[in-house]
Amino acid sequence: MNGYLTSMMHWPFLKLITSSGSRAKLSILNYHRVHSELDPINPGEVDAEVFNWQMDLISRNFNILKLGEAALLLKQGKLPERSLCVTFDDGYADNVDVALPILQHYSVPTTFFIATGYLDGGMMWNDVVIECIRKIPSDYIDLSEKKLGKYNLNNWDERHAAYSEIVKKIKHLSQSKRQELVEWLSSFVIAAELPELMMTSNQVQLLHECGMEIGGHTVSHPILSCIPDEQAEREIADGKRRLEEIIQDSVKVFAYPNGKPGQDYLPKHVNMVERLGFDAAVSTKWGVSTVKTDKNQLRRFTPWDKSPNRFMLRLLRNYSHAD
Ligand SMILES: [Zn+2]
Repeated sequence: MNGYLTSMMHWPFLKLITSSGSRAKLSILNYHRVHSELDPINPGEVDAEVFNWQMDLISRNFNILKLGEAALLLKQGKLPERSLCVTFDDGYADNVDVALPILQHYSVPTTFFIATGYLDGGMMWNDVVIECIRKIPSDYIDLSEKKLGKYNLNNWDERHAAYSEIVKKIKHLSQSKRQELVEWLSSFVIAAELPELMMTSNQVQLLHECGMEIGGHTVSHPILSCIPDEQAEREIADGKRRLEEIIQDSVKVFAYPNGKPGQDYLPKHVNMVERLGFDAAVSTKWGVSTVKTDKNQLRRFTPWDKSPNRFMLRLLRNYSHAD
C-alpha cells in the first residue's frame, strides 16, 4: 500500500493524544503560499497537489474550526477532541486562486491573516528579492557594490541559494535601508515582468463571503520589536480598521509578523493586541495550545513533509510541545 493510501485511513489513536474539554489540545497549522504547480525556485513550498492531500487528510482526521471560535472554546474548556485550525499569513492571491477551491471542496473553515499594505498590487520585500532573482536573464550577478555578494544563477538550485543569501543579508537592516536595497535590486529586471502576488481587496471580501475568517497581520508587516511603540500600535490598529472596512465586519484575531515570542514581538505588543480589541492571536512558536496557553499567543506549526505519513507523524509529534 503506498503512503497516500495508508494515510487516508483514520488515525484512531489521535483521540488518545488530543483529549477534549479542559484537557484539550489545539493544533494550529500555518501556511503562506500555495503554488498552482511546483515552484522551481522554491521546491520545498506547498503546491496544489500537496495541499490537496493535506486537506483531505486533516479533514478526515480532525475537527476543523476557525481560529476565533477554537480559541474561545479552548478557554471555556469546551474544545472538542482532535481540534485543528488552518491559517494563512500575509495575503497571497494564490490563497484565493489555488487554495480556496480545495478548502471549499473539503469544507475546511480557514483563517487568513492579511497585511493590508500590500493589497491591490503591492509586494513584500522578500518576494521582490525572489522574483528579481527568478527573472534576472543572465547566469551570474555581481551585487558586491551594495555588499550583497556575487552569485551564479545557472539553475534553480543556484537561484534558490542566491535569493536565500540575499534575504538573509537584508532581513535585519532598517526598513529604509532594506527598501533602498530592494529597489536597487529590482532595477536589474523589467518591472512589468514582476508578477502580482498579493490579493486584491475584492478577494479579501470574497473570502469573507465564503465564510472564511479574516485576521489582522499589521499594515506593512514590520518586526514589531524593532519599531517604536506608537508605530507598532498604529500598524496593528490601522491593519484591523482597513480589513473591517473591506469586509464590513469585525476582525477579532491577529497574527504577529514573523511571530517568534521575545524576538519578533514582546509582551507589550501582546498588551496592545488585547487593548485594540482582538479576542485571540497567534505566534509561530511550535507546539499545541492548551487551556493554560495565553489566548493572545497561541502556538502554530506546519509539518513540512511531502509524504502523507511523514506529514501526519510530524503533526502528531508536535503534540509533545505544550504549555
Ligand atoms: Zn507574515
